[in-house]
Order: sequence, then C-alpha cells, then structure tokens
Amino acid sequence: ETFRLSAAAGAGALKLHKGDITLWSVDGATDAIVNAANGRMLGGGGVDGAIHQAAGPQLVQACRKVPEVKPGIRCPTGEARITPAFELPVSHVIHTVGPIYDMDRQPELLLKNAYENSLKLAKENGIQYIAFPAISCGIFRYPPKEAANIAISTARQFSGDLKEVHFVLFTDELYDIWRETAQEMLTRFEK
Ligand code: ADP
Repeated sequence: ETFRLSAAAGAGALKLHKGDITLWSVDGATDAIVNAANGRMLGGGGVDGAIHQAAGPQLVQACRKVPEVKPGIRCPTGEARITPAFELPVSHVIHTVGPIYDMDRQPELLLKNAYENSLKLAKENGIQYIAFPAISCGIFRYPPKEAANIAISTARQFSGDLKEVHFVLFTDELYDIWRETAQEMLTRFEK
C-alpha cells in the first residue's frame, strides 16, 4: 500500500509491504535496507541474523572495521552506521540500534533518533530508496502501535531528498498496525 509523505508537490512516497526485508530492493537505484542491529554490530538474532545470513560473511568483516566509540560499542543506541551490502540485492546496509523498551531511559526519543539518524545517513550517501523493519518491535519488545506512530511521523519529517521510504513488516499483526497508523497520519497516493 502506498501513501504520500507530505502534501507538497513532488513529495516522496511511503510504501508498506509484508515479508522479508532481505529480499527487498529497487531495480537500478541506490537503495539501502536498515538493520535493527545491536551496539557491537557483529550480528545477532531476528532481522539482524537474517541480514547477516543473506549478506554473507563479508558483512561482519565490514562491521568489524567500524571504529568502537567505547569498548565493544560501534553504534550507540539511537545512532546509525553504513556499510556495503555484499550479497544482498541492495547497495548499502544502514545499521541502527533501537532501544530496549523496558530497560533504556527515554525509549521514545531513542527510537525516533534511530529512524532519524538512518534517514540522515541515507541522504548523505545519495540513497534514494530505503526500507526499514519494525525497529525494536522484536526482541527489544517495543509496543508496536507506539513504534508505528514514531516510525511514520519521523519518516514524514526527515525523509528529505529520499524518493521513497518503505517499511517491510514481518508479521500480519505489524503490517496491519503500520497500515492503520499510515491511514491516520497520511493520505493515500491516488493512482
Ligand atoms: P529488535 O532487537 O530491534 O527488537 P528484532 O530483529 O528482534 O529487533 O525485531 C525487529 C523486527 O524485525 C520484528 O518485528 C521482527 O518480526 C522483524 N523481522 C525479523 N526478521 C525479519 C526479516 N527477515 N525481515 C523483516 N523483518 C524481520
């Protein structure tokens, strides 16, 4: 399903899909998928594991080269880092770290920062099309409706020069919540 990111002429689109983000790409474009990583950036469970599996072992090598900002931490919560995508069909992977809902202070701000810093990094790297998973909605237990509100409002505010912002939702439940939230916040693209 497709929505307009703003009322402005020529504004970008927001697109929602159900499925596996490792299969997503836009033919012939500079595109990126976002990984819901952890601070170490060396792989993990959930979407992080799926992305590393599909990208092949060069991805973890590239992540290892990202400098540590403190011992063991390459990407603090709310920040974002970029690497090539290797065997994935996209040009880049943007790694971001969302909050652990029951543990981190100010989870709303940290989740907003994760989306915002990913979008800014995409823009700085000439990426035109970006796809996000539902950051923090798995192992990190963020309530999905609140996460959808933050994800879509931040995409609207910070989409910048991106042509399209996509969300690839892994479950029917998440897809329905994202669609309902987009219907509340945005207008549908008329074909
Ligand atoms: P976090 O630690 O940020 O919660 P998870 O990977 O546990 O990260 O979950 C984030 C979201 O990604 C969850 O909604 C999960 O269902 C989803 N997910 C897991 N695998 C994939 C995949 N291959 N493509 C898209 N989304 C996925």
